[in-house]
Amino acid sequence: MSGFAAPWSCCFNRIVAAVILCLFVFGTSSPSECRAEDDGIGYRHTPLLPNSKWRVNDRSRPQPPKVAPGKSPGTPPADAVILFDGKDFSQWEHAKSTDNAKDIDPKIIEDGAFNILKTDQIQTKRHFGDCQLHIEWATPEKADGNNWGNSGIFFLGNYELQIIESHDSKMYADGMAGALYGQTPPLVNAARKPGRWQTFDVVFTAPRFDGEKLLSPAYITVLWNGVLVQNHTEVMGSTRWETFPSYRSFESTGPLVLQQHGSAVRYRNIWIRPLKRE
Ligand code: MG
Repeated sequence: MSGFAAPWSCCFNRIVAAVILCLFVFGTSSPSECRAEDDGIGYRHTPLLPNSKWRVNDRSRPQPPKVAPGKSPGTPPADAVILFDGKDFSQWEHAKSTDNAKDIDPKIIEDGAFNILKTDQIQTKRHFGDCQLHIEWATPEKADGNNWGNSGIFFLGNYELQIIESHDSKMYADGMAGALYGQTPPLVNAARKPGRWQTFDVVFTAPRFDGEKLLSPAYITVLWNGVLVQNHTEVMGSTRWETFPSYRSFESTGPLVLQQHGSAVRYRNIWIRPLKRE
């Protein structure tokens, strides 16, 4: 009797150990699931996610591409389009000029930065839609008129993220720095002193249209000097002075425009990552 019981007991113990191992590794998955899926990462039998062709923990879902991050905060990752690295203007053209193609003279670059009064209003030659933008800017140290530090970044040439001196001077809330101009003030005022370098890190989602019908509005998220000031804010339309916002352009891509508004605002270190929706 004991000669039969010993091997059976050994086998039983091994099965129990295998089941415990599967439960430990795969949670509530059954031992058969464990065996069926243990030749790769992920599963085939799990539920489909809503509005998606992928399943929960789907083994076929592609891995995101690898991107080497910048060496330090604010430096561009490997897949960024460098719009201004302190050396040339090859990515830009004049925005107001009838001769947009006229080159911007790189001799005006000082200490890796440029002054928007010297370039005049400029725009990227390339058009962008959904994107991540990093940009550094500085207002003049001293007031230079009624528009001290007034400039701005127009996404798709239409939707302005305001730049203006906001540390020592006061502007209506939806016209201060970090505002979606004329629509939404920043959540907080994260301004540095005039003359100091400041950063905007922006995620912009472009609007979608079917002809002239708006399918989905634009959205903007902004970190100002690392502080969240716009949190997936809906854009009501083109930003205009004293004018109700509405969608007047029906494009989902456009140039990035830097506004010249009569103040010597400086810019440096500008890069952008075009974003794709899955
Ligand atoms: Mg402005």
